Amino acid sequence: MKLLEERIARDGRVIGSEILKVDSFLNHQIDVELLDEIGKELYRLFGNEGITKVITIEASGIAIGCAAARYFKVPCVFAKKARSLNIGKDTYTARVHSFTYDNDYDITMSQSYLSSDDRVLIVDDFLANGAALRGLISICEQAGASIGGIGICIEKGFQPGGEEIRAMGYPLQSLAVIESMSEHHGITFGTR
Ligand code: 5GP
Repeated sequence: MKLLEERIARDGRVIGSEILKVDSFLNHQIDVELLDEIGKELYRLFGNEGITKVITIEASGIAIGCAAARYFKVPCVFAKKARSLNIGKDTYTARVHSFTYDNDYDITMSQSYLSSDDRVLIVDDFLANGAALRGLISICEQAGASIGGIGICIEKGFQPGGEEIRAMGYPLQSLAVIESMSEHHGITFGTR
């Protein structure tokens, strides 16, 4: 997605060799017009898949999930990053390793909002090692929901998550794929 690549090139900030900050338009301050274009593009890619729910993970996924859900005209459900104490019997849960904080946490979703009748589009802001996606895929499996698509805003193609999730057979599309990045040499985009 050209618009997103241009914005990343202009306003993204590379931290070290592995972290990209997009706080000025996607992760903290949000450019709602860009977000709407992201929702439209996800609909262009997956609009024929019979999607009944868009699911994502809090916090950064929520805005993206809502932007997509508006085009699909279906609800957006986000997995909560829960403290174990809150995990009740009526929830699906999965353990996720955080790329940005390097710790493990549980995600939960109420069984009321996802079932075997659902066909899901999973969305998130970033794809690095794929832990967040594997957690969301596990929740879909627990619910018996089918996965009609996975849409990621920014895939860091030099990290293994994308290749692994595609090898598992999931229809994963990323709107921008970063081939390489460094503080001094900037960002190179690619395709998958
Ligand atoms: P993964 O689970 O694929 O290793 O990492 C994806 C999750 O970690 C995303 O939900 C995202 O919030 C966070 N993340 C991974 N890489 C980056 C990055 O370069 N920048 C930011 N802002 N978040 C990232």
